Amino acid sequence: MKKISYVIPCYDEAAVLPEFYRRICAIADARNDYEFEFVFINDGSRDDTPKILNDISDRDPRAKVLHFARNMGHQEAITAGMDFSSGDIIVTIDADLQDPPELIDEILNKMDRGFDVVHMQRRKRPSESRFKLASSSAFYWLMKHVGNADIVENSGDFRAFTRPVLEAMRQFREKHRFMRGLFAMIGFRQTILQYDRDPRFAGQTKYPLRKMFRLASNAILSFSATPLHTIAWLSVLLWFASLVYLIKALVDHFLLEITVQGWTSIIILMTFYTGIVLFCLSIIATYIGRIFEQGQQRPLYWLYDARNIDPQEFRCVSREARISSNILDSSK
Ligand code: UDP
Ligand code: MG
Repeated sequence: MKKISYVIPCYDEAAVLPEFYRRICAIADARNDYEFEFVFINDGSRDDTPKILNDISDRDPRAKVLHFARNMGHQEAITAGMDFSSGDIIVTIDADLQDPPELIDEILNKMDRGFDVVHMQRRKRPSESRFKLASSSAFYWLMKHVGNADIVENSGDFRAFTRPVLEAMRQFREKHRFMRGLFAMIGFRQTILQYDRDPRFAGQTKYPLRKMFRLASNAILSFSATPLHTIAWLSVLLWFASLVYLIKALVDHFLLEITVQGWTSIIILMTFYTGIVLFCLSIIATYIGRIFEQGQQRPLYWLYDARNIDPQEFRCVSREARISSNILDSSK
C-alpha cells in the first residue's frame, strides 16, 4: 500500500494542534486505501506544543515528531520534515488549518493523472490583512521582474509531491532557503490546484514583518543576480550623466565664459556619487555575506529529541539527518 506523509511545521501551535490532529486522523480513517504518517516538526516552540506532540506520538505510531533545539524557521522545518518522511506522496501543510488537509482527495486525483508536483493556489484570502495582501502582491511583482524563478502566484508552502521529487529536493542544501523557488525550478510534471484559504483556526500568525521580509529577500537574492547587474547599469548611467555635465562645463567655460565657482556642484556630485558607491557596495556586501554564511557550512537544523523514528532508515538522507540519527542511536 502507498503511504502519504504529511509534513507539518509547528511553532507555538498548541492552540490548533489537537484540532489539526483530529482532522488528519479523520482523513486517514476515511482513506483506507493509503497508509499515513504525520511528520510534526516542533520548531523551537515556547508553549505546550512539544508536550502535545509527544502525547500524540506516544499514542499514535503514525506520528513522527522532530524537536528542533531552537527556532530555525518555517523553511528549515519543512526541510527537516522532508528529510524524515518515508511516504510515496508528501504533503507539506501549515498546522493552523488555513490549508484544509481534506484537499488530499483532489490532490490524489491530480496525481493519478500523472502529475508529480501539485501547487496549492489560494483563490481567495478573506482573513488576511490589507497589508499582507499588498505586500504579497509587491513581492510577486518583484519576483517576476527581478527574480528568475517562475513561482506560482498566491501559493504558500502547501503542496504535494511524489517520492522522486522528494529525493531530488533533498539534495538542495542551500542555507538561504526559499522552497517555493526551488520547487519552481526542479522540473517534473507540475500542476496547480486552486482552493479557498480558511482563516487561522486559533493563535496568531508566526510570520511577523521581520520574518516575511527575510523570506522575500531570500527569494530574490537566491534566485537572481539582478541586484548585482544593476550596479553595472547604474555606472553606465552615471558615466553618461557626468559626460553631459562635462560638456556643459566646457561650454560654460569656453563659449559663454562664465566663471564657474563650482563649489556647490562639487559638493552635490560628491555626495551623490558617494551615495551611489555605498549603495553598490551594500549590494556586493549582501552577496558576500551570503557566500560567507554558505561557506560556514552550518547545518540547516539540529534536534534535541525525536519520537517514532527509526534512525537507521534516514541515516543517508542528509548530513543533518545523519547527525540527528547518531544522537537518536546513542540515546536509545
Ligand atoms: N512556522 C514555523 N516556524 C516559524 C514560523 C512559522 O514552523 O518560525 C510554522 C507555523 O507553525 C505554521 C506555518 O509555519 O504551521 C505557517 O505559519 P503561519 O500560519 O504563522 O504563517 P501565515 O499563514 O500567517 O503566513
Ligand atoms: Mg497561517
